[in-house]
Amino acid sequence: MVVQHNGKIKARSKDFITTIEDIPIKVTYKNVKNLNLRVYPPNGEVSLSVPMSFSHERIHTFLIQKIGWIRQKRAEIQRQAQVPESTSQIPTEIELLGKRVILQQGNQAKLTDFNQGEGEAIRLTFPEQTSPDVIVNFLDKIALDTMKQKVPVLIAKWEKKIGVQVAEWRIRRMKSRWGSCNPKARRIWLNAELAKKPLECLEYVVVHEMLHLLEQRHNNTFYGLMDHFLPDWKQRKTLLGSR
Ligand SMILES: [Zn+2]
Repeated sequence: MVVQHNGKIKARSKDFITTIEDIPIKVTYKNVKNLNLRVYPPNGEVSLSVPMSFSHERIHTFLIQKIGWIRQKRAEIQRQAQVPESTSQIPTEIELLGKRVILQQGNQAKLTDFNQGEGEAIRLTFPEQTSPDVIVNFLDKIALDTMKQKVPVLIAKWEKKIGVQVAEWRIRRMKSRWGSCNPKARRIWLNAELAKKPLECLEYVVVHEMLHLLEQRHNNTFYGLMDHFLPDWKQRKTLLGSR
């Protein structure tokens, strides 16, 4: 933006995008003395800020001189971006909430849905060229679906044991907690991230939140109830924290 004499701010219209050897470069005019060329991760976008007085020709000449440096920077960024990918190898077998998922490569065109009987492993076949991102997203979806199946079973089990009734439960994205309980509404919320934890951990959180229907606060009564109903809750809590 340009500040005019009268103090008003006028939208700058001189900015433009130019392409040098197939690389698009965003050129922005600024009240600066020097040219400032940057290449940004993760995609290697190139941006150049230039003094207001510079002509297109002068900018073009500068960029031609710098194209080698730009290419080098972009290659560096690309190499860095590939590091996490190569370390996050696709596993051949994982466990989601006590369910075994076997991953295998196949030569069909797209990710297949899985056939799954009760207690059986989920067999997931993916095409050879599938990116790890796609597989991770797909696994997230399976994890959440599995959690949606498991939660009502756990709640029914613990309603009988504890002698309370849950009126409503939901799976939510939560930043700082594994679960929460509104005793008045008898409503329990569970963090969607639990889908990626062992089943014992999900059960620990469900029991913890359900016991808040008996005791709202984290006091001795509450922990007495935890010890009584789920004697190994501390191990489960540690497991939850460590994975
Ligand atoms: Zn609590």
